[in-house]
Amino acid sequence: MNKDLHVTFLQMMYQLLPSPYESQEINHLTLAYFIISGLDILNALHSVEKEAVANWVLSFQVHPGTKPDPNNGQFYGFHGSRTSQFPPDENGVLLHNNSHLASSYCALAILKIVGYDLSSLDSELMLSSMRNLQQSDGSFMPIHTGGETDLRFVYCAASICFMLDNWSGMDKEKAKDYILLCQSYDGGFGLVPGAESHGGATYCAVASLRLMGFIEDSILSSCSSSSLIDVPLLLDWTLQRQGTDGGFQGRPNKPSDTCYAFWIGAVLRILGGCNFVDKNAVREFLLACQYKYGGFSKFPEEFPDLYHTYYGFSAFSLLEESGLKSLCSELGITDLAAIGV
Ligand SMILES: [Zn+2]
Repeated sequence: MNKDLHVTFLQMMYQLLPSPYESQEINHLTLAYFIISGLDILNALHSVEKEAVANWVLSFQVHPGTKPDPNNGQFYGFHGSRTSQFPPDENGVLLHNNSHLASSYCALAILKIVGYDLSSLDSELMLSSMRNLQQSDGSFMPIHTGGETDLRFVYCAASICFMLDNWSGMDKEKAKDYILLCQSYDGGFGLVPGAESHGGATYCAVASLRLMGFIEDSILSSCSSSSLIDVPLLLDWTLQRQGTDGGFQGRPNKPSDTCYAFWIGAVLRILGGCNFVDKNAVREFLLACQYKYGGFSKFPEEFPDLYHTYYGFSAFSLLEESGLKSLCSELGITDLAAIGV
């Protein structure tokens, strides 16, 4: 893996996002998370102005005006971008609140990475209003005006509570019950109960249960029969995602794709099942997706994008590539950032 090339690639993205990313402007904080956390994994965070990054991220926090009401159904988190951000009206009432769970997860993750003390964040209203997004079945909506409810946003909510070290933002038992309903007959997890098992959904389920403390680390090395989930069946489904080309697919009959080396690899790391993986084969697949000017593509020999670049680094970190920082698999940031070093 050509680390120096990737550092240069991310530094260019840090200075200016190329025009193809215009259509993703609404997810600006998520793109920033890929860059900042990517530089951290590559041990190159020195090239980032940490205080400026923290102030930029904080500028997306929703401030509800003069009359905050945590029970009005709204969520007071972080906007994903400047274009979705509107100030309160002349009476201090926030008319357009587009704060989003995924943007809020990315905001807190970046703040942790650059060393901002999250205890100095005004998070009480954010947590109490987050409960407005939890549905009666335990799932979460990402935004108060509506949207899909599935495991992705359960994961975002669990990560937010974990990072703020305050679980008042969700009903953990209800969320757990929802996650358990999403485990399919084949051992993987679907995004919603009854849906086809999928690598990303399986990551969200297992990482959420780990963050919430419902499963222990390296559960395979303990008595798995007492676990909430069917661990042997999950392990079987997960290991079958590695293809003959060495890469991982997100579900059966799909081609191998860089990002699943992380989504599936991280599940195996949490379960303690990494030793069952053909690591050299994964490495070979990922190197085929490494672009000659930096970054990783989805499939071999294509152009890179930030999303697959970030999960390429994450996968290499799981493979313990020298020179890369170790990853806190369930939180999606480095171990050092997770513990606040
Ligand atoms: Zn992908």
